[in-house]
Amino acid sequence: MEIVFVLVYIPLCFIAGTIAKLKGRSDIGFFFLALGLSPLVGILAALVSESDIEHVEARQISLQRQKRCLSCAELVKFHANVCKYCGNTLSPPVLPASAWGSSTKKTT
Ligand SMILES: [Zn+2]
Repeated sequence: MEIVFVLVYIPLCFIAGTIAKLKGRSDIGFFFLALGLSPLVGILAALVSESDIEHVEARQISLQRQKRCLSCAELVKFHANVCKYCGNTLSPPVLPASAWGSSTKKTT
């Protein structure tokens, strides 16, 4: 019985936490909700909970998957040159010097 608990119950609780985290909610909170009540309850609660849009957007920006258009404030892909919402020309992303490789010439 304990092996079923470890192999099925706990991973289902992690799934509830993961769903909640993807929606910008507390993964630990939903994990323990699922652990305490039932994984089914935890997963359903995570699925029906509203997304924390600000948290999800901040995460996308911090991971450099998206950036905010300065003209219309919508999120667009990080490497986009033109905003798909307003057509504003976006500044190219500032990459660290290491991202350009070693082929760049050094100016002295
Ligand atoms: Zn825009």
